[in-house]
Amino acid sequence: MKTIVILGSTGSIGKSLLKIINKDKKSFNIKLLTAHKNYKQLLRQAKLFKVKKVILTDKKTYNLKKENFTKNNISVFNNFSELGKILTNKVDYVMSAIVGLDGLEPTLKLIKYTKNIAIANKESIICGWNLINKSLKINKTNFIPVDSEHFSIWYGLNKKFKTTNVKRIYLTASGGPLLNISNKKLNKIKLSQVLKHPNWKMGKKISVDSSTMMNKIFEVIEAKKIFNIKYNQLSILIHPDSYIHAIVEFKNRMISIIAHDTTMDIPIYNTLFDENKSYILNKSYSLDLNKLNSLSLKNVQLKKFPVVKILNLLPSKSSLFETALVTANDELVNLYLKNKIRYNDISSLLIKEISKKYITIMKKKSPTKVSSILNVTNLVRSRINQQIHIK
Ligand code: NDP
Ligand code: MG
Repeated sequence: MKTIVILGSTGSIGKSLLKIINKDKKSFNIKLLTAHKNYKQLLRQAKLFKVKKVILTDKKTYNLKKENFTKNNISVFNNFSELGKILTNKVDYVMSAIVGLDGLEPTLKLIKYTKNIAIANKESIICGWNLINKSLKINKTNFIPVDSEHFSIWYGLNKKFKTTNVKRIYLTASGGPLLNISNKKLNKIKLSQVLKHPNWKMGKKISVDSSTMMNKIFEVIEAKKIFNIKYNQLSILIHPDSYIHAIVEFKNRMISIIAHDTTMDIPIYNTLFDENKSYILNKSYSLDLNKLNSLSLKNVQLKKFPVVKILNLLPSKSSLFETALVTANDELVNLYLKNKIRYNDISSLLIKEISKKYITIMKKKSPTKVSSILNVTNLVRSRINQQIHIK
């Protein structure tokens, strides 16, 4: 029986993982589930999977709803400070799927308590990879990437992180819902159109990031860190079908093209099981020749996606600049979703903000502590909000 922890079990990734576990319940013993506010879903999950310990991180919800758990004989905690009591032995597998930078501390804390950690939380990898990597080594914990592109690269490298034999890695991008809409029309684009992703069903924030191409910029940064490769060995290719997720070009001219159907269930499934286990969610799969015969891949156009310029501004060593970039984008997307700025402002204000001195000097500062990462986040958030407020 595999022992498991899921950070962010009520989210899209967490739910997909539980759907897989539900197909083979007897093989798993879930030791801990966590959520922020969604206590109803968390309670439902804990009952269904007979989980005895949960964490609900939102203080108000915790205080109001903790009895719903205790009367069902489920211990509920409000934070990650008592992990030692919750997990007495190393578990086999942790899925880190909290959204945003709030996922960094829990991810770092869990590394000590698990043999394997699958990390979906992008922000942790982009902003705190050097802290994560150090802890993985100290605690001899295996890391598995979850994001479909990074899972595919890892798979194409025979489940290794060694890239000395690699010439170039291509990450594919669908181009999002606005790929074929003229630049002129973008300023008047409706939110409903921005959120209508052609292939993936995702939350609002990541859907906006996908439409501006910022999601792919983040994934390039993730790939650089995870695979310890140079930025000039990473490229983005537009691939509207999202069938191919990555292409690895080796120095010996062999090329590995990694494809799977457009669902996160497949990488999530494969972080949990080894490749000898047949897929249990949809058994009647056969190769789709129509899809294979109509693959279409193109270079990304800078005019259409101005944020691609950011790739030339990234420092070669991990720095606090990446945190500033993540935060500035996060704040601008929030302002857009609140109707405070226009769609095109997201990209233009982002490039302007990260070119300011208070942010460019961060390229020389290494993220050595979680607190320094969080300080940068607070600083950038308040600077952006002040400006928009003054406007
Ligand atoms: P969701 O927003 O669907 O779920 C997020 C989870 O985190 C929920 O369980 C939520 O709890 C919890 N949470 C939210 N805020 C906090 C907080 N402040 N502290 C602790 N827990 C919190 O996100 P996704 O599942 O879509 O994504 C998770 C991560 O994986 C993200 O970083 C995303 O970029 C990445 N990712 C997602 C992909 C996808 O297809 N969805 C693909 C690749 C990567 P509650 O429900 O109570 O709010
Ligand atoms: Mg992805």
